Amino acid sequence: MPEKIIIFDTTLRDGEQSPGASLNIAEKVEIARQLARLKVDVIEAGFPVSSPAQFEAVQRIAGEVPAIIAGLARAKEGDIKAAYQALKEAPRKRIHTFSSTSDYHILGKFGSSRYGQTLAEKRKTVIQMSIDAVQYARTLCDDVEFSAEDAGRTDIGYLAEVIEAAIEAGATTVNIPDTTGYTLPDEFAEKIRQLKKRVKNIERAVISVHCHNDLGLAVANSLAAVQAGARQVECTVNGIGERAGNASLEEFVMALNVRKDILPFYTAINTREIYNASRMVSTFTGFTVQPNKAIVGKNAFAHESGIHQDGVLKDRNTYEIMKPEDVGVSSSKIVLGRHSGRHGLKARLQELGYRLSEEKLDQVYKLFVKLADKKKEVYDEDLRSLMGEEVYSEKPAYLLDYLHVFLGTSAIPTATVRLKKDDRILEESATGDGPVDAVFNAIDRALHTHFEVTDYQVRSVTSGRDALGEVFVRIQNGLGEAHGRGHSTDIIEASGKAYLQAINNILKQRDTVSLEKKSSA
Ligand SMILES: [Zn+2]
Repeated sequence: MPEKIIIFDTTLRDGEQSPGASLNIAEKVEIARQLARLKVDVIEAGFPVSSPAQFEAVQRIAGEVPAIIAGLARAKEGDIKAAYQALKEAPRKRIHTFSSTSDYHILGKFGSSRYGQTLAEKRKTVIQMSIDAVQYARTLCDDVEFSAEDAGRTDIGYLAEVIEAAIEAGATTVNIPDTTGYTLPDEFAEKIRQLKKRVKNIERAVISVHCHNDLGLAVANSLAAVQAGARQVECTVNGIGERAGNASLEEFVMALNVRKDILPFYTAINTREIYNASRMVSTFTGFTVQPNKAIVGKNAFAHESGIHQDGVLKDRNTYEIMKPEDVGVSSSKIVLGRHSGRHGLKARLQELGYRLSEEKLDQVYKLFVKLADKKKEVYDEDLRSLMGEEVYSEKPAYLLDYLHVFLGTSAIPTATVRLKKDDRILEESATGDGPVDAVFNAIDRALHTHFEVTDYQVRSVTSGRDALGEVFVRIQNGLGEAHGRGHSTDIIEASGKAYLQAINNILKQRDTVSLEKKSSA
């Protein structure tokens, strides 16, 4: 009988910790809904104590999304309390607490004498902290996960001691993270086997693994661990996460599916929602999926060479181990146009994983009609891009009302912008090294501000000369850091919209609505 593997998705916690990935609350809720449609068992929604925005995101997801919702907490009472408060509304909730167990971490993090002078004393303190944390979490919640951070590099004898103590204290899931992505598959599997042998009460908890991809082995290590006895795998959509990322959900799940002949396991995942999830996470984070990425890359099912194409046409099995439809990549191109109507748009957006209120649908429909006027044929990718920019930016403080750019090979690029905020109009001009720089400078001038641009990407959403251009920009200064997206068939305009959306996002984080008052004060 095949055994079930619990899929614990941490796209919204570890994935969101990727350098530069910050998502706003509305984006997180939308991703969580898609994860529920994908049928992941557990959604780790965030680290509530770390910021008010994290707390609110976890709280909203807990109240709205049907799955087990987990919140992360260090082994501290305040963290655990905050996690519980944020999770309270969830019908099924999990507190996830952790301690660092490798010598590297213990010596690095617990230098102070409070933890004892010798390594042995420090190790003892870590065990006691873990016990206290799990016991306290259990007073609030029946479902408690304990992680031994950097377990991959933790001495097996000590790791077994920590895990046994955590289970004794009430942990229902024990997670063995390869935090630094250091282990090799055989070695990691052996670690799981050893734990099963050495930890007396191991049958009372589910063994989980959480593998990082620093050596490109996160999925391989997760599969090896499952074969050795792990029954929960922590992973992220598109494999995003700290540094080189986490085990990729889609790769792990499809490996189990495609090789069920030798892997007697299954998951609850609805694989046909994989592609929608991948595109949504990519649009919201601004992390483009590499074309050759397994399962969800643009070329994952493309056959270029003549011999391959010929083979696939005669019999798909010659070069395909899975069908694109299995992961939700549709072979037929659905095209909408100006006459598709509101209903057609709504139906298509639903198929792509977006649920809209009637009010939001009105907004999107207006944008859609504008786009269809310029572009005639509107593809799925155009719709995803549209959703990325407009729908989740909530009510913007400033709008780009008018833009004029003057440029030429022997002229200094000059931009004039007119921004609107309620009834107020702000107009300014500025020059720049190029037209985009000029637009950014003009916006800065109009708002009496200046931001450093830390990331700027422009891509064409579909192919063809009239393709929609999508711009992703990340900015920062003393006020904060945020990203914005803009789209238009004109990439200069898209850049201006993206920059302004990023500024609006910073204002939103700071709960202010205006920049000008601040700078004049
Ligand atoms: Zn991690």
